[in-house]
Amino acid sequence: MIDLHMHSNFSDGSSSPTELVLEAKKLGLKAIALTDHDTVDGVSEFMAAGKKYGVITVPGVEISIDTKMPNHGHMHLLGLFIDPAGGELKSTLDYLREQRNLRAEKIIRKLTELNVPITLDELLEEAGEGSIGRPHVAKILVRKGAVGSIQEAFDVYLAKGKPAYMDKVKLGEEDGLKLIREAGGLAILAHPHLMNYDDFAGVRERILQLREKGLDGFEVYYSTLSQEFSRQLRELADEYGFAVSGGSDYHGVNKENIRMGVGLGDLQVPDTVYSDLKARWEKAAVA
Ligand code: AMP
Ligand code: ZN
Ligand code: FE
Ligand code: FE
Repeated sequence: MIDLHMHSNFSDGSSSPTELVLEAKKLGLKAIALTDHDTVDGVSEFMAAGKKYGVITVPGVEISIDTKMPNHGHMHLLGLFIDPAGGELKSTLDYLREQRNLRAEKIIRKLTELNVPITLDELLEEAGEGSIGRPHVAKILVRKGAVGSIQEAFDVYLAKGKPAYMDKVKLGEEDGLKLIREAGGLAILAHPHLMNYDDFAGVRERILQLREKGLDGFEVYYSTLSQEFSRQLRELADEYGFAVSGGSDYHGVNKENIRMGVGLGDLQVPDTVYSDLKARWEKAAVA
């Protein structure tokens, strides 16, 4: 078994890249990919640990895309087999991170106006290696007793439409796809069901549009993907020759019900998913 979608404490996971490798080794996973949100800063540690402990490690990233989706859905792109120093990848992700820090300062100003002051230092400490996000703000608000729960922090202050909400700067889909491909990676649509189309026809149409812009494939295996949806995706992949990927989206203790390798319990990503992706990537690299 393999798991090609997981987060470390370089974004919003709880384990370090080295700890992820050790957990995978314990579980007997053959290959794992690190796909932190909007950063490749954990990749070098991850690759070194893979070598040291004898687990196949795939360098990756998960990029949030700015695009209209139905029913509050969202689009995330995975770059797999990326060169973290390739193309404009690192500089673009660093720029997005700076923009996130500016956004955090705006959120702090709003919260101060609302009489629930928090400081940038508190936020930086909460985020650690990761880039600052609303969940970090929410945790601080809970700790200070301003709200009773993370969810309440979103419902009262941080969710879209609430008084301390701030948009963040994201890449469009063309830029995201280009960034991944110019860094030598395969561009994979993460969790296609979370785009929240009402039916599979919508998903299909959107994927075919993305294909024109350079999408290589999509996840067919994912913790919360139903068997029926997964089957439809596999058929679409077969029909057009899309690359197929999959993983749990493990976040460690930050998403307690998702376990590495097995997701909610019955996820199984076959080893051939890794070997097929690797063969495809190698072929693209010589072309
Ligand atoms: P950010 O990247 O700072 O915009 O934060 C995004 C994260 O905030 C998501 O990955 C969710 O974990 C969390 N989040 C966003 N909206 C909500 C919401 N309405 N309720 C609870 N958590 C949310
Ligand atoms: Zn995450
Ligand atoms: Fe995602
Ligand atoms: Fe993810």
